[in-house]
Amino acid sequence: MPTAATAAERFTDKVNTAGPHSLRKGAPGRCHLWTGRPNAKGYGRFWTAGRYVKAHRFAYEQTLGPIPAGLEVDHRCRTRACVNPAHLEAVTHRENVLRSSNVAAIRAARTHCIAGHKFDTANTRIRTNGTRQCRACHNGRRRAPRTQQTPTAYREAA
Ligand SMILES: [Zn+2]
Ligand SMILES: [Zn+2]
Repeated sequence: MPTAATAAERFTDKVNTAGPHSLRKGAPGRCHLWTGRPNAKGYGRFWTAGRYVKAHRFAYEQTLGPIPAGLEVDHRCRTRACVNPAHLEAVTHRENVLRSSNVAAIRAARTHCIAGHKFDTANTRIRTNGTRQCRACHNGRRRAPRTQQTPTAYREAA
């Protein structure tokens, strides 16, 4: 490397600390946006020590120390180009997937429907789009209109 600038200095040069404020919990202050070219997935890339590293991982290690083995660095602000260490957290891959805004992943992690019925083999229908549906709720909804159409029983009870 012919330049005298340190990796940290070169890194800082590529960061715009005046990014938008994150409205997410646990992500205080503004996002620090990587101004260099992102990779195909939208993560910043930084050239250091003869190879490209993900910019947010570099930021994490510079500020918070080595990333524990096997953990991924999650963006609490959900902005992939962000390198603000206050928005970064080392989590397991599973946690990272569950936290992601991928609704399908969040749904797949649920063991019970919103009404509290268990998603077991007998009670689970798979919709054509691949999502799961609770049979008990589905059947309950189909019966519901008929119950409402019995005013006699309703009057007797009242
Ligand atoms: Zn951020
Ligand atoms: Zn249900």
